[in-house]
Parts: sequence; C-alpha cells; structure tokens
Amino acid sequence: MTQNTPKIVNCPSCQKPVTWTEDNKYRPFCSDHCRILDLGDWAAEKHSIVGEPFYPVEQDEKDPLQ
Ligand SMILES: [Zn+2]
Repeated sequence: MTQNTPKIVNCPSCQKPVTWTEDNKYRPFCSDHCRILDLGDWAAEKHSIVGEPFYPVEQDEKDPLQ
C-alpha cells in the first residue's frame, strides 16, 4: 500500500500553492473567492458579455434529507 501524497498545484487566480485533495472542493483554486474570480475572468475574456452581468451560481444546496 502506498500512501497518497497530496498533489500541490498553484491556484490559477493567485498562484498560491493548493493541496489537491478530495476535501478541497475549490481545487484547483485555493478558495471559492479565487474560483469565482477566475470564472469571471473567463466569462469576460471568452464571451465578452456586454450589458449582462455574470453571476456564477453556486449549486450548493443543503441536504434535503436533513
Ligand atoms: Zn487563490
């Protein structure tokens, strides 16, 4: 059995080292903040949406069973 060594990546937004783990739901970003920043950049650069604000929607609903 080999122990899984966590992979370290750089956050695409701020270049901070990020540990790539199952727990890190923001990977490859260091935080939700950077993830949204990057999505915003992507939308602005690739799509050039004019006159329509881009709001990434978090699909992070609470567990309905609780
Ligand atoms: Zn970051």
